[in-house]
Amino acid sequence: MSQFDPRRAAQVRSTTESLCELFRENANRLFFRETVKRQPDIGAGRPGEEAQRRTRLASSDSGRAVTSEVDLVLLGYWWDGGVAYTCSAAERSLLRIVSHSAWVRGAVQKENAWRLKGRQQEFMDLLRAAQRIRQAVDATSQMERLARMISLCTPNLPIDRAFPPEHAEGQMVALLMETEQPPEGPVDLYLTRSPCRHCANGFARLSKLHDMYHDITTQNPQAYKGARRPEYDQFRNDYEDAGFDRWKIGWILYGAPYENRENQTDWAALDRAVRNGSVSGHRRLY
Ligand SMILES: [Zn+2]
Repeated sequence: MSQFDPRRAAQVRSTTESLCELFRENANRLFFRETVKRQPDIGAGRPGEEAQRRTRLASSDSGRAVTSEVDLVLLGYWWDGGVAYTCSAAERSLLRIVSHSAWVRGAVQKENAWRLKGRQQEFMDLLRAAQRIRQAVDATSQMERLARMISLCTPNLPIDRAFPPEHAEGQMVALLMETEQPPEGPVDLYLTRSPCRHCANGFARLSKLHDMYHDITTQNPQAYKGARRPEYDQFRNDYEDAGFDRWKIGWILYGAPYENRENQTDWAALDRAVRNGSVSGHRRLY
């Protein structure tokens, strides 16, 4: 059980919230189809608020349309000596468009749409924000790997994924698992919204990993030598490869409670995560 540094938490929170705000404010205004589609003029008619919300961004590189209805969850995480930011991956394509699309930049530079006139500064701010936000290379495969490890610890409760890979939490855990130089010690995090039900349960399951690893390596290695030994060897490799022997989740701090009705925060799961040692604690920051 560690304590979080309130000053550092406040700093990360402030950056996380401002990055989120920048996206919410600017993304809807700047990047929807009417503004970026390749037309010299989008016409005189101004689309209404509702039409704007429903319009989709046209992605030039993936060919996939991305909704401009940004419901971004941003996550800042920090450890002794570092800090990083990530977000829900529904906006991954949005980030890519903002960061890499010459097409979007061209549209902005041309100022050929009323909406974009005089918007270069907003675009540059958004671009800078996008470049600070990390995305996992492949959160899905890391989450499947994590689920395999957890399933070995809880054979009666098989799960197919630990955290939804598209959620900010899944992105963060995948980033930590895939990094070449994982941090040492607790990793505290600040979320603009409290973890959803799935993620809260994901956090609560992490202690099983640590218990299993402890068992395999120090407590009772003999018990893991039978027919299933390859599975346990695999587990140990995966665990160490993901850096779980170096870092662990510390505090989960958040702003507003997550509101999605079907997927509301499972507070009992978060409390369980604290009791079983998966995380140091959880708290809303005001
Ligand atoms: Zn979630």
